[in-house]
Amino acid sequence: MSLWEIIRRLYPYVRPYRGLVFGTLLLTLVGSLAAQVNPFVLRYTVDTVQGLLNRNQGLAQGLPLLLAVSALLLGKEIINTSVQFGQKYYGEKIRINVSTQLSEDAVHKVLGYQLGFYADNGNQTGKLQTRIDRGVESLMKLVQNFFIDILPLFANAVVALVIMFFANVYVGLVAVAVLPVYFWLSYRQADRLNGSRRALRGLREAKSQGLVNLIDSAVVIKSFVREAYEEEKQTRLQQDLQAAQLETRKVNFRYDGLKTFTESIGVVLIIVLTAYLVLDRQISIGAIMFHILLFNNVSAPIRQLHRIYDEMNDALTYSEGFFDILDAADATEPTGALLPDHLRGTFELRHVDFTYPSGTQALHDVNITIEAGKTTALVGLSGAGKSTVINLLCKFYAPDRGALLLDGQPLADYNTHALRQQIGLVLQKNHIFKGTIEENIRYGVMDADLAQIQAAARQAYLHDQIMQLPKQYQSDAQQLSGGQQQRIAIARLFLKNPPIIFLDEPTASLDAIATEQIKNSLEAIKQGRTVVIISHSLAQIVDSDCIYVMQQGRAVESGTHEELYDQRGTYREIFDASARSLNIEKLARVMVDDGDDVADTAG
Ligand code: ADP
Repeated sequence: MSLWEIIRRLYPYVRPYRGLVFGTLLLTLVGSLAAQVNPFVLRYTVDTVQGLLNRNQGLAQGLPLLLAVSALLLGKEIINTSVQFGQKYYGEKIRINVSTQLSEDAVHKVLGYQLGFYADNGNQTGKLQTRIDRGVESLMKLVQNFFIDILPLFANAVVALVIMFFANVYVGLVAVAVLPVYFWLSYRQADRLNGSRRALRGLREAKSQGLVNLIDSAVVIKSFVREAYEEEKQTRLQQDLQAAQLETRKVNFRYDGLKTFTESIGVVLIIVLTAYLVLDRQISIGAIMFHILLFNNVSAPIRQLHRIYDEMNDALTYSEGFFDILDAADATEPTGALLPDHLRGTFELRHVDFTYPSGTQALHDVNITIEAGKTTALVGLSGAGKSTVINLLCKFYAPDRGALLLDGQPLADYNTHALRQQIGLVLQKNHIFKGTIEENIRYGVMDADLAQIQAAARQAYLHDQIMQLPKQYQSDAQQLSGGQQQRIAIARLFLKNPPIIFLDEPTASLDAIATEQIKNSLEAIKQGRTVVIISHSLAQIVDSDCIYVMQQGRAVESGTHEELYDQRGTYREIFDASARSLNIEKLARVMVDDGDDVADTAG
């Protein structure tokens, strides 16, 4: 991205603050004029004092001059301070406003993108965050630099240079002659720092990441007694960091030294030249100080040049990744105009092929009909494509080929948000937000009151357990056990109360008692709704109205439990394996014996 392009992209963000920008520019102009007052005052003072001395006059005659000069300088300082404050404050105000707007835009865009966007390599959770943060940060540095550094400093330099030329062309030429050397040194410095600074940042990130990982993996590290190994890894990182830090400092010190040296040569040249001109009676003695001070105004901003150049480079590098995020228009979730007001809830997949953005083809020519008001089970080994079917039904992804219909209309034609309002989704592992239990259940219906939340928790067999916690509904939800968190997800479903329900192994992380309880409450909610359930639990499958068996991305069998069982196909295999894993024969024998005992005692 070129600097020009960045300015073009930033323009709409800065536009609302036109007045502020104009005010800041005006202040900048005033500030740069005020900065030139000192050289003039000093020249006048020196020349006047010289005149007094020449006429053998002393303090008595000089006093009014001193008072006038002091008042003038004080007045100028007051103006200067106010100008600087205004300039910094308004510059900062523009920066903060623009940065807030940029971040808000990024969040808005990212939330609107489809799931595939997050799976993209550059957009994984941490990376996306870094890209946004870095992008905004470096763009803001650019804006800040412009208003607080570049503009004031360079306005100063240009005004000072013009005055030098007007005062004496030769001195002006000497001042200009030093500049290219200075520019060249700054450019070299920035260039040398570029690589090492980036390396330094990478190492810093790796180090802080490393620490986070260490804490996360503490249990594994300790159980495998890998403390020494991990420490060694950290030490190496630390050593690299140290080397990179030293290298950066070295480059900085070397070039800063060279720049100071160049500046001093400039000053010496100006002293020699002005002294010569004074002796030659071309200019007054006060002009020596006058030119040195002006030259200082010229060289001061250039001292900052390498930093400004550096940060500009950063902006060029990182803004591209950032604007790519804002521009990923094709990643925006598609939506349609159809509002699902009177849904019956019949889904049809006709010859559906689907490939994940990663390239894995998860569905091949799948034909499934999910009837309204009935319970359809999807059965199959792990990786068969069951969750993928649900992903398509939720419109998280669109099929590559084939038709996906809801009540006879293409699913793509439905308004995506309105459709999802009608769907309840419970997964094997559900996300629990940072916050209280109450807040987490309320996610189902944002304006639900506590009574409704408690009712939902009761239906999910969670209420009694919550009441035993010290802070009850105000307890931290992330501290709950896996099974309890699962019930929060189910309570959310009860609260949302949607006509269509997708359950993806909803009881997989629950213990037997909880599974039994949840099964009962799910039975209750299933009535009259369209339900798709994925489960490894036979009990939840056998009652389904229709079962689809999936194998390697294909729907290979379908029918009721009895029909499929008699077919002696894939379903039968899975069913028998599940039964064996439960050791059903032995269980049955135990239960029969138990029944006999009871019968004996009764007899
Ligand atoms: P199941 O639910 O039957 O266990 P899935 O539908 O989750 O199976 O997965 C089907 C195939 O798609 C698997 O090969 C899996 O690796 C792949 N897959 C699942 N989710 C993704 C994803 N987000 N990105 C890429 N591939 C995926």
